Amino acid sequence: MSTQADFPGWPGGADVAVALTFDVDGEAPWLGEGPEYSRRLSTLSQGRFGPERGLSRVLDLLTAHGITGTFYVPGHTADHHPDAMAAIAAGGHEVGHHGYLHLGSEGLDADGQRAELDRGLTALGKHGIRPTGYRSPGWELMPETLAMLAGYGFSYDASLMADDRPYWEASGAAPLLELPGHWSLCDWPYFGYTPYHGGLLADPAAVERIWLDEFESARAEHRVVTYTMHPEAIGRGYLSRMLDRVITGMRDRGRPWFATHAEIAALVAPPGTQPQAATRAAG
Ligand SMILES: [Zn+2]
Repeated sequence: MSTQADFPGWPGGADVAVALTFDVDGEAPWLGEGPEYSRRLSTLSQGRFGPERGLSRVLDLLTAHGITGTFYVPGHTADHHPDAMAAIAAGGHEVGHHGYLHLGSEGLDADGQRAELDRGLTALGKHGIRPTGYRSPGWELMPETLAMLAGYGFSYDASLMADDRPYWEASGAAPLLELPGHWSLCDWPYFGYTPYHGGLLADPAAVERIWLDEFESARAEHRVVTYTMHPEAIGRGYLSRMLDRVITGMRDRGRPWFATHAEIAALVAPPGTQPQAATRAAG
């Protein structure tokens, strides 16, 4: 049984905390699958659409709504798309760790998992970023990586799903905040068609209804809800319009506090310690 994180309430009298998060995977997941993908230009270009086109739509939308989000960026994306990194920074958004080559850690031993953490930190560090949060590539966190995270200075992870409320995990001997997501609150299962893995290409109206119903549930329970998106999917024109409607629909229905994962994590501390100072008002 996991230990829930005990939040004092949301800033500004908000009735729900909403984290809009974006994994800027770019070409990394394909190159991580195998060297043969380095010649598959169409497949790679589908990934490149994220940092080179979809991201700007996402950033413009967040700016229009006055929202800061959390961007989980593989080190490979940071190394090869410096303009994307600059645009994320210019918007005042948070950047989290998302591996280096988006390697599925289930295929890596402990040394390989540590190398992904190290390479990712080095790549983000070249942009002046020292992330406090981690999300495992492909949402497949292995015990070796989980045990390392606190030692690397991470304060939270966003890879597990044992609850829909934040809870405490053990990272080695230290506590680590878990900010859970879920596949139903991710754009990829609905819209992430790829030539080798297929996909659904769902009706955005159906997803809009699901995401707003989950928002209503989170609001009724005064909890956090995290949405996970990818600029190569949500950054398509028709899907950015869906996200626009979802954000507007949330504000029509309640008083959401749109917050980064780091801002949410700063509100709580393990039992017996003091949280950091809280942040912005509801909006
Ligand atoms: Zn990813």
